[in-house]
Amino acid sequence: MRRLPFIAGNWKMNKTVEEALLLTRELKEALNEVKDVEVAIAPPFTALYPVFQELKGSSIRLACQNLFWEEKGAYTGEVSPLMLKEVGCRYVIIGHSERRQYFGETDETVNRRIKAALKVGLKVIFCIGETLSERENGETFSVIERQVKGGLQGLGEKEIEDLVIAYEPVWAIGTGKTATPQQAQEVHRFIRAQLRQLFSDGLAEDVRVQYGGSVTPENIKGLMAQEDIDGALVGGASLKAESFSRIVRFREM
Ligand code: PEP
Repeated sequence: MRRLPFIAGNWKMNKTVEEALLLTRELKEALNEVKDVEVAIAPPFTALYPVFQELKGSSIRLACQNLFWEEKGAYTGEVSPLMLKEVGCRYVIIGHSERRQYFGETDETVNRRIKAALKVGLKVIFCIGETLSERENGETFSVIERQVKGGLQGLGEKEIEDLVIAYEPVWAIGTGKTATPQQAQEVHRFIRAQLRQLFSDGLAEDVRVQYGGSVTPENIKGLMAQEDIDGALVGGASLKAESFSRIVRFREM
């Protein structure tokens, strides 16, 4: 396959530093020999630096779950792109549906965050996805088109090379309802077509598109068998080494 599979675990607001270190040690051990899949974990902010230290010598990448677009200043409670780079982050998750739903994230703020992240050399996991009512109203493709165009506005082809898209239907996140491989593939193909239209054939072929939404060791293989699914963004099942490592080792399932 031309695109290296990429599995990332989004720990959300889970794990104290002590718990995060324990899970990191278990993952290092369980994934020691995995070479043909890129793996990232996204602990909460408080655990980033200790986890970075623990990951030294491992190929598991560190990711964070959000950032603010300004470089520094009077923005109480926010964290800047450079601060996150400094503590060892390679990736940042931007535009997760929980941020859109609970914290007022819009396509415009997502776009500002993406630009700020790429500017300091952080790679981006850019999340998009429709809600259940949007799907039921037949709006899935128009929502995806709006989110892709809005999130990537003003970015050039060179910058998009450092970006991964995560298609996460909101109705599948944390609900135990996974999109069928066919439902996911249909949207992934559409996302690639959008990239082709906005940028080029080559770029559309190279950008990795992850699926997210109740991914488990049981359903990962069927999803990864789809032509346009290049990996997964995993929530709940990334909180235990056993389930996350089985997802990463999907080829052996
Ligand atoms: C997520 O939040 O990115 C996610 C996919 O969660 P879950 O796997 O728990 O559905």
